[in-house]
Amino acid sequence: MGKPTGFKEFARQTPGYEPPEERVRHYREFTRPLSDGELANQGARCMDCGIPFCHQGCPVNNIIPDWNDLVYRNRWKEAVEVLHSTNNFPEFTGRICPAPCEAACTLNITDEAVTIKTIEHAIVERGWAEGWIRPETHKPRTGKTVAVVGGGPAGMAAAQQLARAGHSVVLFEKNAKVGGLLRYGIPDFKLDKAVIDRRLAQMTAEGVEVRVNAHVGVTVSPRELLDGFDAVVLTGGSEKPRDLPVPGRDLAGVHFAMDFLTQQNRRNCGEAVAGADILAAGKKVVVIGGGDTGADCVGTSNRHGAASVTQIEIMPRPPEKEDKALSWPLWPNRLRTSSSHDEGCDRRWSVSTGAFRGENGRVVGLDCFQVDARFQKIPGSDFTLDADLVLLAMGFVHPVHEGLVDGLGLEKDQRGNVRADTESYVTSNPKVFAAGDIRRGQSLVVWAIREGRQAARAVDVFLMGDSDLPMC
Ligand SMILES: Cc1cc2nc3c(=O)[nH]c(=O)nc-3n(C[C@H](O)[C@H](O)[C@H](O)COP(=O)(O)OP(=O)(O)OC[C@H]3O[C@@H](n4cnc5c(N)ncnc54)[C@H](O)[C@@H]3O)c2cc1C
Ligand code: SF4
Repeated sequence: MGKPTGFKEFARQTPGYEPPEERVRHYREFTRPLSDGELANQGARCMDCGIPFCHQGCPVNNIIPDWNDLVYRNRWKEAVEVLHSTNNFPEFTGRICPAPCEAACTLNITDEAVTIKTIEHAIVERGWAEGWIRPETHKPRTGKTVAVVGGGPAGMAAAQQLARAGHSVVLFEKNAKVGGLLRYGIPDFKLDKAVIDRRLAQMTAEGVEVRVNAHVGVTVSPRELLDGFDAVVLTGGSEKPRDLPVPGRDLAGVHFAMDFLTQQNRRNCGEAVAGADILAAGKKVVVIGGGDTGADCVGTSNRHGAASVTQIEIMPRPPEKEDKALSWPLWPNRLRTSSSHDEGCDRRWSVSTGAFRGENGRVVGLDCFQVDARFQKIPGSDFTLDADLVLLAMGFVHPVHEGLVDGLGLEKDQRGNVRADTESYVTSNPKVFAAGDIRRGQSLVVWAIREGRQAARAVDVFLMGDSDLPMC
């Protein structure tokens, strides 16, 4: 619970950032961590509220008041243990989780929430620095084999939990490296890829066998997995991007955001870039879509040296502040300004695109108009935006069906995701399970970790009749 009067004594404090003009010159992380004393004060703000709503706000049900208290009392090693009891990868969530726990924090009703995410980040980094995070010893081997298909956070969590339950786990990944969207989508300046490698080394030391460049449904037959393993877990993500099929879509210079972001992540780690370079240097960039992916395109375009960056969103501009009486403890609708926006971006709201304009086969602009609350065109609101590079960041519709999903003949839900519930995680094939974005649709890293953990337990029950793995 921290210090009983801590919330009265200490104001909320979050980590600082390197100034925008400096950080746009590189792709490294740029937060300036709090000192141990500052972190202890932040832990002290956790206020013995009685019913910690933050537990429910956090999709992995992190035991937040306990580790806040341990940090306040300088008992870091125990904090590391409590943190890992619910979350395999707090170094991912401590960096990039939007922190629904903080929206649900009781202190957030009348004051500012406890800096839960910052404390989570500090605990896990302390654990690594002190050498407290090591491969965990296995239970006796069960002789059972499990194939996990897809090496994003859901697949990593499922594989680690299943290996810890004593099963022989092979993690299949189509790319050259494991990490999923953490590796190839999210930019290095938000999540340094060494953070993934460090955890991967722990997992392989625990017995997870990783097979990269193994594209199930293309280079590896799904039938081979069904015949060769006792259970198969699909964690292939939601990779089919939402398109904008308006006139001019096929002009050169109009790209999906993921093609742009993946190229830069590959460049940063020395991997070959597929296809022609998509570069924003000197260009007028328009990003279509106002979410995390769009913000990552803004940050990356500024690092390339774009002439200008405009981000357009079809939704109306959210209010500056939420009405907590209406929203708490749920995730509120309010304006969110990311560090990438602070680096330079013109944000426009309630905007729809009617067509891309081109010259000599290349995009030169967009024909846009304002929409009302029901996304209907406001008459006379047409305007144009100049653009040499357009990035489509409008989310993902569902997993890729060809190859893996259709190859296994699996049922889908009405949104095109692999059908499975959140108790058994089993698909329409009784030995195939599904978790993460491939099952729930595009979501968050913390939900992927939760589903990977829960699916691992469901598989353990399927294989052994019972499980010691945690429910979450
Ligand atoms: C640009 C961007 C920024 C984001 N930012 C955030 C953020 O700040 N915070 C947040 O919480 N969430 C963020 N998200 C969402 C988050 O990354 C995803 O919800 C999460 O990664 C989903 O995890 P997953 O394991 O289900 O799938 P993924 O991370 O998509 O991993 C799926 C993996 O499966 C592999 N795969 C797919 N098919 C096959 C196959 N047939 N054979 C072998 N391998 C296969 C893929 O190559 C990939 O490695 C962001 C997403 C994007 C695109
Ligand atoms: S994982 Fe996300 S929701 Fe859970 S405690 Fe960490 S920041 Fe909060």
